[in-house]
Amino acid sequence: MPKATILIVEDNPDIAHPLADAFRFADFAVLQAGTAIQALQIASQNQPDLILMDIQLPDLDGLSVAGTLKVDPETKDIPIVAMTAHVMKGDREQCLAAGMDGYIPKPVRAQELFEVLNSLTPADAVPVPEPTSA
Ligand code: MN
Repeated sequence: MPKATILIVEDNPDIAHPLADAFRFADFAVLQAGTAIQALQIASQNQPDLILMDIQLPDLDGLSVAGTLKVDPETKDIPIVAMTAHVMKGDREQCLAAGMDGYIPKPVRAQELFEVLNSLTPADAVPVPEPTSA
């Protein structure tokens, strides 16, 4: 039985695949979406326990997706963690204003990611992996 189901919304396979592998290795069920439309469909149909959200997607941006999910009664309680390469002042505030529950700058570091997830899930839900040099 997987610990939880995570939806990874990311259009870049070079980022999505290692993240998916890390979560599967940590015994999570992983769903993946490469576009905003897919993300909305999968979130609504599968009710994941947590969503990792890229901001720059080919169709709508991740902020819009989060805004839509957070006003839908079926998906509003799913925690959303933003991942963004924009490291600009105000990014974090924008993500939180869009209803997201957490924020991780890219490149995503495993240690940082699992710390954020731990803050959103029961204390023993996510094992913190060894820090990697990547
Ligand atoms: Mn992207």
